[in-house]
Amino acid sequence: MNCPRCKTSRLVEIEVTLREQRVTMHSCSRCDNRWWESEGQSLGLASVVELATGR
Ligand SMILES: [Zn+2]
Repeated sequence: MNCPRCKTSRLVEIEVTLREQRVTMHSCSRCDNRWWESEGQSLGLASVVELATGR
């Protein structure tokens, strides 16, 4: 996978489980872009916060 913004492949991936859903955070070490993904689908930040807070 490459960063959608700067196309580098130097990404940091952190996998967490929120409310029994596996969510992967991708962080670009070059342009500091961040995005979230769950089961192959990209997640908006609002959805992540929703899972994290359980609302
Ligand atoms: Zn980037």
